[in-house]
Amino acid sequence: MKIGIVGAGASGVFLAIRLKERNPSFDVTLIERNDKILKKVLVTGNGRCNYANTGDLKDKYNDKFANKLLEDFNANDIIKAFDSFGVHPTYTGELVFPVSLNAQTVVLMMNRKITELGIKVFTNEKVIDYQKKNDQFVVKSENNEFIFDKLVLSSGGKSYPQLGTDGTVIDILNKHGYKIKELSPTLCPIKVKENTKKISGQRVKSRVSLCQNNKIIYQEDGEVLFKDDGLSGIVILNISSKINRLNNRNNVQIVLDLAPSYTKTGKERYDEYVSPKVAEYLLGNNLDIHHLAFTFKAFYDYQIAEVSHGGLALEEVTDSLESKKEKGLYFTGELLDVDGMCGGYNLMFAFASAEKVKKALGE
Ligand SMILES: Cc1cc2nc3c(=O)[nH]c(=O)nc-3n(C[C@H](O)[C@H](O)[C@H](O)COP(=O)(O)OP(=O)(O)OC[C@H]3O[C@@H](n4cnc5c(N)ncnc54)[C@H](O)[C@@H]3O)c2cc1C
Repeated sequence: MKIGIVGAGASGVFLAIRLKERNPSFDVTLIERNDKILKKVLVTGNGRCNYANTGDLKDKYNDKFANKLLEDFNANDIIKAFDSFGVHPTYTGELVFPVSLNAQTVVLMMNRKITELGIKVFTNEKVIDYQKKNDQFVVKSENNEFIFDKLVLSSGGKSYPQLGTDGTVIDILNKHGYKIKELSPTLCPIKVKENTKKISGQRVKSRVSLCQNNKIIYQEDGEVLFKDDGLSGIVILNISSKINRLNNRNNVQIVLDLAPSYTKTGKERYDEYVSPKVAEYLLGNNLDIHHLAFTFKAFYDYQIAEVSHGGLALEEVTDSLESKKEKGLYFTGELLDVDGMCGGYNLMFAFASAEKVKKALGE
């Protein structure tokens, strides 16, 4: 059986390896627009690749569909699979990294597996369309045509277009009549209406509350970094994920408590808890250290968003991630309307979705 996988990123390469390992007679081809495979994996986890998370998955994804997939192939299964590739785990709490603390190890070991298993790889091949002809798929790239018995689209979402993921395949699916859930950047810094220029570059430890219509809908403690026109830091990236899940973005505020454990903090003592610059900003603007409120304006764009929210609507696929309209066509990873919070959840979904397709196609 000839299987084509469009996109040699996290989910596509994982699928190719797992499929070929269990089904050596399959002819497996990866088609990638970049000059190298797995370019995005190299930048994950600040170059350390946080590839799994052993913690509770409750509310970590925008849709329970992801949790269901991860019941069948969980963090331990992912860790085991990577261990067999030569990527051994190390743990920071629930976060899982390669023991080398270097994403290059993941890329090197996956490349080694590809060579060892004889998986075909075509790079510099940007796919521009596909067609189902009788029982086969004709895939058109800018330079070539490929024919497969089964086709898997693993081309990611829209974030980090500079690494090849600009959503072209999602646009192709749209053209083919698939329902696409509107995309937006997520796991990204947030622009706010208030002026933050004076404290740009300052970091604060904070309890961060996401509020809508003055009601707290999510809270997390963490470090916030002020930018020229907004807020950043892991906790803010998680807040962006929660904002994306709201039905509307009206009256959305991000409220910081910069000294949550010190309830009797008087104004004269602000500089004991935050840097002199931030204390000056609070005092100069008559702001409360326990209630520093910012109004949501917009997300920063795809160039710096780790993930995209939205994508191929889940109602278009079966539980095996096969297209309901076109039999023999499958989807994995971020191309689907699934996104998770920071902490390894997005790569875990990429791998669990790939495993699901592996089971549907072979052993
Ligand atoms: C800076 C950054 C840090 C991150 N850190 C983490 C982390 O630590 N942990 C975590 O879980 N997640 C992290 N993520 C998210 C994670 O990397 C993605 O969710 C995951 O890689 C998605 O896997 P995928 O297989 O769906 O797509 P990708 O890995 O994005 O791969 C898609 C591939 O398809 C190719 N492609 C696209 N269009 C075409 C086309 N038309 N023709 C041919 N090829 C095409 C692309 O070039 C790309 O190689 C991070 C993301 C970024 C940007």
